[in-house]
Amino acid sequence: MVLCDACGARRAVVLQRHSGRRLCLECFRADIVGRVRSEIGRWGMIGPGDRVLLGLSGGKDSYVLLDSLVEIVGASRVFAVSIVEGIPGYNREGDIAAIRRFARDRGVDVIVTSIREYAGAGLSEVYARARRRGLSHAACTYCGISRRRILALYARLYGATKVATAHNLDDEAQTAIVNFLRGDWVGMLKTHPLYRSGLGGEFVPRIKPLRKVYEWETASYVLLHRLPVQEAECPFINMNPTLRARVRTALRMLEEREPGVLLRMMETLDAALKDLASRARPLRLGRCMRCGEPTSPRRSLCKLCELLEEAGFAVPIYQLAAANRLSPPAAH
Ligand SMILES: [Zn+2]
Ligand SMILES: [Zn+2]
Repeated sequence: MVLCDACGARRAVVLQRHSGRRLCLECFRADIVGRVRSEIGRWGMIGPGDRVLLGLSGGKDSYVLLDSLVEIVGASRVFAVSIVEGIPGYNREGDIAAIRRFARDRGVDVIVTSIREYAGAGLSEVYARARRRGLSHAACTYCGISRRRILALYARLYGATKVATAHNLDDEAQTAIVNFLRGDWVGMLKTHPLYRSGLGGEFVPRIKPLRKVYEWETASYVLLHRLPVQEAECPFINMNPTLRARVRTALRMLEEREPGVLLRMMETLDAALKDLASRARPLRLGRCMRCGEPTSPRRSLCKLCELLEEAGFAVPIYQLAAANRLSPPAAH
């Protein structure tokens, strides 16, 4: 039996290659939560009065995020929103019961909603209609932007002061490299925790507490804790090999050969951006004529309204749905 390098008492169950340590389940968990805690503290992601909404997809990262936040800030300051995308063959509705149970066991309320509720159609339908009109956006574009919008709406509706998303270290390293390769320094700054958007109080800031936790760590975490992870892979994934997908492959290979390289890269980036991000002037954003959400300067419609409009969804149903919910529905 190999003993844990941290406590020396329990059986080691994972080899953490970036630290060279073999850890037991308890110490592995404590190490992850510790890293999340230190990231939250370092960038002031969650203050004493904050109430945090988190997107609970049922994927491995979202489970680790919920567990960590409950441990760090307490279940009473956290609630979850789960969004059903509406993709046949990848039906999250069947997983909702497991997601609810997981959250309820930890004392966290889950609100379930769907893209259909906001866009007037599920994701597959939105995407199919866009294709018929000759549009070439990836399905993930509609999905990502809709989900982000829905989380923002619910945050306001339920008085959350932060929206936490489950992006892990691998995601963040990919984003950084993609921004770098595109020469997009604004994008680089905007994804950094130090960046302040300059938006007024009604726009809820987003935080990424897992930004220093490897993807393999969240995968091992849910496996070792036997959590009910959504098994089906989204059918839209890998449909068009994006720059990001190629960067992902390259970074995986690099990490494999040189364990810890992604973590070091992000630490270097943090140090380099620290000055830049705190000195950067906030972007002056406009407001979408249609839904009132923030837009890039000089744009009259936000990205989501524009995407939906060109796909033939003229009425922003999600906005009506939100407006009709002046008193929030009870959490389930
Ligand atoms: Zn241990
Ligand atoms: Zn809009």
